Amino acid sequence: MSLQASTHCVATHSGTAPDRQAVCVLGATGSIGESTLKVLALHPDRYRLHAVSGFSRLERLAEICQQFRPARVVVPTRKIDEFRRCLANRGLLGNDQPELLEGDAGLVSIAEDPTVQSVMAAIVGAAGLLPTLAAVRAGKRVLLANKESLVMAGSLFMQEVSRSGAVLLPVDSEHNAIFQCLPERYVAHGQARTQTGLERAKTLGVERILLTASGGPFRCTRAEDLHTVTPAQACKHPNWSMGQKISIDSATLMNKGLELIEACHLFDLPESAITVVVHPESIIHSLVQYSDGSTLAQLGNPDMCTPIAHALAWPERIAAGVSPLDLFQIGSLHFEIPDTTRFPCLSLARQAMQQGGSAPALANAANEIAVASFLKQQIGFMQIPQMIDAVLQAVEIVKPESIAHILEQDVRARTFAQHWLQKHKAP
Ligand code: NDP
Ligand code: MG
Repeated sequence: MSLQASTHCVATHSGTAPDRQAVCVLGATGSIGESTLKVLALHPDRYRLHAVSGFSRLERLAEICQQFRPARVVVPTRKIDEFRRCLANRGLLGNDQPELLEGDAGLVSIAEDPTVQSVMAAIVGAAGLLPTLAAVRAGKRVLLANKESLVMAGSLFMQEVSRSGAVLLPVDSEHNAIFQCLPERYVAHGQARTQTGLERAKTLGVERILLTASGGPFRCTRAEDLHTVTPAQACKHPNWSMGQKISIDSATLMNKGLELIEACHLFDLPESAITVVVHPESIIHSLVQYSDGSTLAQLGNPDMCTPIAHALAWPERIAAGVSPLDLFQIGSLHFEIPDTTRFPCLSLARQAMQQGGSAPALANAANEIAVASFLKQQIGFMQIPQMIDAVLQAVEIVKPESIAHILEQDVRARTFAQHWLQKHKAP
């Protein structure tokens, strides 16, 4: 996907208006990264792109540099020379080149850059944890797409948010919807919290969160046929266009499991307060039920530019470039109970949240190995939950004391998952 050349260039490091918000996009070349750039390009008067990172799509990253002129760019250490050539091929030489930074240290540096006000955390998987946390610790406004970092680090992550005064805004469409449907006093930032989430919910009459799920591409596929589905079929999401990993997660319903854990931490609620509802049209992005019988929902066309624009501008609203909902065209909406027999990942994630401690981090790591193995056609689709289950059963669950401790648990889970893979992969 490439962006249309914009007539109004968002960000140049010369001649920037000082009151524009400086934005860092971690994972600018991905699906969420690209949608973020689209929204930024609509509002050159409000935002300037100060820093970006990419990983493998270097040509696209160079194109982004040419269009948006960020001051700082991060690529993996082994790609730095290749990327310099990509920039040179686009005429970006000498002073026209952005400052180039490398690897994990580079990601942390742009996430905590004092110039930056807002950080879009849109790296996929566990690789997003340290830079996202760096942005939190630096007290930024953090636009959270990288759900895996919250799944892994849960309470420690949220403690860092309270300590630093960072403003954490959910970008995941369901969590963004819940944020919009909860009372302002429930989600208020920058206030010392004396009550738990459950106590706040009781005071404000919040009864239950309904987390919607599209059901993915195999919602109607028979159990016996799921064993032989291909990565290409699994990546074909009916409603959303997303990166490969989250597309597979949506097909297994692990994405909803990760989102259940994400919601527990974001809104400080137990998993029992959250019900997953399959809603195939992906028009209602989630709902909150109240004690007076009201149910509030957030609706919109399935386009990530909406939650991104909401998080960027909150508490104001800006245009997202998304067409308004046409209810007459939609006609009807449907709801189903999720089938956890065909999609056991959802139950496994709920179980991991109930177990607590390092269990969600173990499940997340196992899932990352399982998805990568499925994409390489080393295991079948139904072996994804089997691998997660095996890791949760075999690897001891501990109470993580620090982020370093969580990263150790992540490595232990990956090591076990790799052993499991050697025993079970297709010959
Ligand atoms: P993509 O795979 O499309 O993009 C991932 C981004 O991360 C790319 O910029 C990629 O660089 C970069 N990246 C990949 N691996 C690494 C690594 N090891 N170190 C540093 N950077 C890396 O993913 P999505 O945009 O779909 O998802 C991003 C996050 O947002 C995920 O956590 C996902 O769960 C979440 N999310 C996504 C939604 C969506 O609609 N896509 C919806 C809600 C949440 P490169 O492309 O150059 O290789
Ligand atoms: Mg989501």
